Amino acid sequence: MAQQIRTPFSGWSTPLAEIPDEVFARAMLGEGAAIDPTSNELRAPCDGEVTSIAAASHAIALRAPGGAEILVHVGIDTVALGGAGFEVLTRKGKRVHAGDVLLRFDLDRVARRARSLVTPVIVTNSDRFRIVRAAVGRELAAGDVLFEVEEQSAAVAGESADAAPVVSEALVVAHAHGIHARPAGLIARVAKSLPWKMEVRARGRRANPQSAVALMSLGVRGGDELVIVGFEAGAAAGIAEIARVVRELDAQPAHAPASPHPSNSPPRHSLSAPNAPVAVPAGCVRGVIANRGFALGKAAWLDEADIEVPEAGSGAATEAAAFGRAQSVVRDRIATRAGGAAPDLHGILRAHLELLDDPQLVESALEAIRVGKSAGFAWRAAIAASVAELNATGDPRLMERAMDFADLERQVLAELTGTRERRPDIAAGSILVARDLTPSQLVDIDASRLAGIALMAGGPTSHVAILAGTLGIPMLVSLGPSLREIRDGAELVLDADAGLLNAQPDAAALAAARARLESVRARAARERAAAADLCHLASGERIEVFANLAGTEADARRAVEQGAEGCGLLRTEFLFLERTTAPDEIEQRTRYQQVADLMGGRPLVIRTLDIGGDKPIPYLPLPAEENPALGLRGIRTSLWRPELLDVQLRALLGVEPAVRILVPMITEYGEIELVRQRLHALAAELGVPVPQLGAMIETPAAAMLADQIAKGVDFLSIGTNDLAQYGLAMDRGHAELAARIDGVHPAVLRLVEATTRGAAVHSRPVAVCGGLASDPDAVPLLLGLGVTELSVVPGQIARLKAYLRTLTLDDCCRLAERALQMDNAAEVRRLARELEVR
Ligand code: PEP
Ligand code: MG
Repeated sequence: MAQQIRTPFSGWSTPLAEIPDEVFARAMLGEGAAIDPTSNELRAPCDGEVTSIAAASHAIALRAPGGAEILVHVGIDTVALGGAGFEVLTRKGKRVHAGDVLLRFDLDRVARRARSLVTPVIVTNSDRFRIVRAAVGRELAAGDVLFEVEEQSAAVAGESADAAPVVSEALVVAHAHGIHARPAGLIARVAKSLPWKMEVRARGRRANPQSAVALMSLGVRGGDELVIVGFEAGAAAGIAEIARVVRELDAQPAHAPASPHPSNSPPRHSLSAPNAPVAVPAGCVRGVIANRGFALGKAAWLDEADIEVPEAGSGAATEAAAFGRAQSVVRDRIATRAGGAAPDLHGILRAHLELLDDPQLVESALEAIRVGKSAGFAWRAAIAASVAELNATGDPRLMERAMDFADLERQVLAELTGTRERRPDIAAGSILVARDLTPSQLVDIDASRLAGIALMAGGPTSHVAILAGTLGIPMLVSLGPSLREIRDGAELVLDADAGLLNAQPDAAALAAARARLESVRARAARERAAAADLCHLASGERIEVFANLAGTEADARRAVEQGAEGCGLLRTEFLFLERTTAPDEIEQRTRYQQVADLMGGRPLVIRTLDIGGDKPIPYLPLPAEENPALGLRGIRTSLWRPELLDVQLRALLGVEPAVRILVPMITEYGEIELVRQRLHALAAELGVPVPQLGAMIETPAAAMLADQIAKGVDFLSIGTNDLAQYGLAMDRGHAELAARIDGVHPAVLRLVEATTRGAAVHSRPVAVCGGLASDPDAVPLLLGLGVTELSVVPGQIARLKAYLRTLTLDDCCRLAERALQMDNAAEVRRLARELEVR
């Protein structure tokens, strides 16, 4: 029977061939028709399930009940608008009815900025469905039939293959917009002409390269790595052909189809596997590292039944009251839990409390209750709408917050329905396996029983990943659907240092894992025993090993216990966040003094406030900024509001014994000079000696001008987290770039070298207090480049000291010299490992 596809907008309908874009005009994405919209609401062209929403919100795909895949692509080249002017009103996976509004857009704005508004409506599995009648060349109202499709054969573009790949190639998608509709169409067209069974894998997902919709659903963006695999040796030629199309995407003008001729530009390959097939050992699945470590244990599945809720309510007043009660129970429970929680968990639970009472969310639920829905149904719908909004941003960090919403959804529904959430019974030493995990699920589990966590979905910057980090549990995420095949109780080897889960370890793999764990345990015991001694390299040079502190008492105590010789970085932000007024001088001094007392006379470096940008505080309204990371941050905020800086400097000057003051986000000498002048003036006022002053080197500018900056300070401290972010122009919180924002990149190492060279002009010591200081590949390089102090989180100190004692400075210098000449971070890491300086 023919399936009717209705026009999503009112407007003039045209044949695809008349579209000013060859990919659509030549039906590379599939057959269909187009509509030149005069309305701004995209309505579902048929009943079906939403199968994909473009990250730039400009295209939506549906699967009709009979299997036809329908893509509506608003305008031409609208991907370049990056979602501006579009508002998605549905979500992936949602079942919709013909005529439902799925997307709204600003007609004027999009029309002004896009090449054309003409909107193709396409059957992307045209190999299976054909168009039998089309109403083109006429004015149509939204909902009129645009064309009808009929199934022409039972051949379905196959789902992802289960067989093991035989050949593969990894490459980085250089095309700025990733694999959106047009590139997907080009790849699918080429793939359809190839006889081999292949698969494209990216972002933990898989797609049949013959299906443009499946390729789009991978959500691949510019800079992502994808892997093309084949299931027979002959497929290598097909893989090469698809890889060629992907590479050539970069060379295409945004509106032109791919050239049929091979590109002359060199292939771009992944950093982790340059120019080589990706090797995943047999029986292993590759995932994304959320928290490093190694574990061996039995799989413990966390499976939960859905909580069923009726749609119809039993009166608005009753439902509203029930909702209020459930909210209040959940609120009290979270607040109690937050009370005694460690800083990371505390922050997450505070965020949950905010969400639970979020006015928009609550109002949206109440609105549904008012029109007759049950409280549970209304809450679930309100949560779904919020998650759809997060997804529509296309910002992976926001999208990873979906599990926080799921967490609250479940807690409130459990209260409303009286569902007893059973604490999962997990045997000690288990590896938790789940589709995804919410923060409270992890908190509910006795974490001490977990050896590791393996998730099918999820991202490395999600809240639950942060918690796993705090709890010290190795964790891999985005392992993909093959995890479903793991039986409860199966033996697993989770290597969260290499990003691999071995779900079928043979006897040899198990023996190797046991031996590795045993030696890890024995080594940790030895390291702890020697942690209190001062640290010298094997060649005799003294290296100071300090702790980075977040301000809690427990943190400072732990640092001293672990053998910290001082504190190299106390981040003072902890005192300024989550409050309505700034802490005054007395409060600040008291808190700094507490840390100084706990450090027992050891050197204490306290950093002035590094706030602003993406860490707003309510009592310090910053001007709106398009790029907060490049805006008022660190010293820029302090100089913009000098009264805040004065209060902080006064508080610091009052601590005994004197602390060292460190200033973040310096870009030039003038900034440090202004701080120095204030410090001198305030010290004179208070009648105390001027303490040591240091500058953080976190911007390429500061690294290049280190000789000038060093003149005005007593020491330099390199913040490698930011130096890598600004040096490589990659957002440090960007999940997709996480694998590439690597501080051992030769560009960052050269900035470190410029810093130590500049500092040497004035004989100033250089510390590193960013994450690189605890990275075993990086440590010899940093020492070889002239760094003499490392400051790391307390838990790393014993390990780091033991490691440093095995190094000789000559080896480190030789290694660093060679590393500076490498092409990329992967080469540096290979070099560091090959030379085995450790
Ligand atoms: C850094 O940037 O490396 C650093 C230590 O500062 P923060 O991580 O607090 O920005
Ligand atoms: Mg920083």
